[in-house]
Amino acid sequence: MNLIILGAPGSGKGTQAVKLTKRFGVPAISTGDIFRANIAGGTELGKKAKAYMDRGELVPDEIVIAIALDRIDECDCKDGFLLDGFPRTTEQADALERHLAVSGRSLDKVILIDVPADELVRRIAGRRTCADCGASYHIPDILPAKDGVCDVCGGELKRRSDDNEATVRNRIEVYNANTAPLVDYYGAKTLLARIAGTTGPDNVFADTVKALDK
Ligand code: ADP
Ligand code: ZN
Repeated sequence: MNLIILGAPGSGKGTQAVKLTKRFGVPAISTGDIFRANIAGGTELGKKAKAYMDRGELVPDEIVIAIALDRIDECDCKDGFLLDGFPRTTEQADALERHLAVSGRSLDKVILIDVPADELVRRIAGRRTCADCGASYHIPDILPAKDGVCDVCGGELKRRSDDNEATVRNRIEVYNANTAPLVDYYGAKTLLARIAGTTGPDNVFADTVKALDK
């Protein structure tokens, strides 16, 4: 099962990606996580990506495409994958399609998590992530038992450096300009499943599973 999960920043696609991975056993690949790991590790790639990410801009296509296509050629992806945060432009989508075709693969479904813009800003402003295990929380929607501490592993809860209001607004604009056109792009290929993203994580997941069963 080769899947894409599409949605604006704050739509909850990362949360759904984790649930889908557990249910279907396919690896979730987040280009944002790959960049953050490279920034944490101080790599050349991390240095290049950080400047764009801090401004809420897209990392240039030639960089992202190479990283993402290499990743889906790793052997854990041979029976399927779930892409979270890639593609984000029609150029990336074209490159993905061509690349999959070379190895006789194709996409099975593109899941769009639909959330209104005001709600996106509210969600991102409250988002906190565990520095150790990556579990996500939200103030005030999903509070940890103890302030600032991860329920799962006891790690410290942090705000992502690009989750400040100015960067968030820019990320949403960038999404509308560059990524939203992928909704029609995949709609035209009859791959799109549109899921309401405001019904709570468990309902969003149930609706997604239903759409995948069709
Ligand atoms: P979000 O979906 O909340 O914006 P991500 O973790 O997916 O968070 O992405 C964080 C940042 O990483 C983006 O704002 C962008 O700068 C960069 N990035 C991630 N994926 C891509 C991509 N496919 N193309 C270009 N830039 C990307
Ligand atoms: Zn944790």
